[in-house]
Amino acid sequence: MKPEWPEDAHRGLWVYLEQQGTLLPVGHELLGKGRELADELGESLTAIILGHGIGDLGREAIRYGADEVLVVDHPLLEGYTTDGHAKVMAQLIEERKPNILLFGATYDGRDLAGRLAVRLSTGLTANATRLEVDREKGLLLSAVPGFGGSILAIIKSEHGRPQMSTVRPGIFAPLEPDDTRKGQIETVAVDLRPEEIRCRVVERSVLPREEIGSAERTLVAGMGTGGDLALLEELASLLEASIGVTRPLVDNGVAGRERQVGSTGVSLRSKLAIVLGASGASHFVSGLRDVGTVVAINTDENAPIFDEADVCVIGDLFELLPPLIERLEKAKMGMA
Ligand SMILES: Cc1cc2nc3c(=O)[nH]c(=O)nc-3n(C[C@H](O)[C@H](O)[C@H](O)COP(=O)(O)OP(=O)(O)OC[C@H]3O[C@@H](n4cnc5c(N)ncnc54)[C@H](O)[C@@H]3O)c2cc1C
Repeated sequence: MKPEWPEDAHRGLWVYLEQQGTLLPVGHELLGKGRELADELGESLTAIILGHGIGDLGREAIRYGADEVLVVDHPLLEGYTTDGHAKVMAQLIEERKPNILLFGATYDGRDLAGRLAVRLSTGLTANATRLEVDREKGLLLSAVPGFGGSILAIIKSEHGRPQMSTVRPGIFAPLEPDDTRKGQIETVAVDLRPEEIRCRVVERSVLPREEIGSAERTLVAGMGTGGDLALLEELASLLEASIGVTRPLVDNGVAGRERQVGSTGVSLRSKLAIVLGASGASHFVSGLRDVGTVVAINTDENAPIFDEADVCVIGDLFELLPPLIERLEKAKMGMA
């Protein structure tokens, strides 16, 4: 089938960087991976930043790997709206014709990418965990786990441009920021009127969020805790660890969605993860793949989590944690 776009007309890899005064961490991750892919394709890496009062964020994008930054600064882009952001993005894409466009798989990133895919009649891969390119054909290959991480589907978009993917936060490592990197920042003027935005943001409150994906040490609570995280919190403070949970604990309101580890949550990159009272369902363990050392504590010696763990402790977490906490406290006070 003949492509509907002139093959050589679409060039460049774009990353859409979400900002809330500062760039979201997933933006740094997209720049790191985008840099690698753009170099492989021999194309340039362009960062897109939309908002109002954007300040120095363009420079930050260059320090983290962009060759070029397109900044759209407009009062109607102050907060995210589907209509406003989609109109501006569609205009930029239609004028400048990128080959590939990546978004973070955040609430707003997923919303915007979906709207654009329909508007531009192009393909969109959701929640990619691995990205590669086919250099010969200029194709983006996005890997998405399916069936709880037991298969990895490689999705390519042979029809429509740009080729788009949303990328799961916490998967790719950002580059070290380099103050000496040079790049171009272009401010683009857009025509955006209030009547084009059909919803009105009455109030916006941003909850303080701990990014558990990149923590050095993480304790992960499962249903075996019965939703009582008091001991885990004590241990976490002694180990300077963050706390993640399995999905049922999120569904039961014990913790926020941002703490969920697994295929529909966060992928951990910790050096150490201690998993307490989680059975080891495939949807959950796919979030542990990049952890250095996994310690699992479970009362059931046949729990599947023990197939994934480097250190297996068969026992009741409520019996094991108090003496461990006591010993760590003593060690901290120099009494051990
Ligand atoms: C499409 C889809 C996506 C999903 N995505 C995710 C996801 O991203 N993340 C996720 O976590 N789940 C996800 N799930 C749910 C997943 O399949 C499991 O249901 C879930 O991970 C089980 O959580 P759990 O291990 O905490 O609970 P359980 O399976 O109930 O396991 C509890 C474990 O605790 C042990 N235990 C009990 N008491 C103690 C004790 N006192 N001390 C030590 N051990 C004890 C038990 O032996 C048991 O092994 C998804 C499911 C679907 C269908």
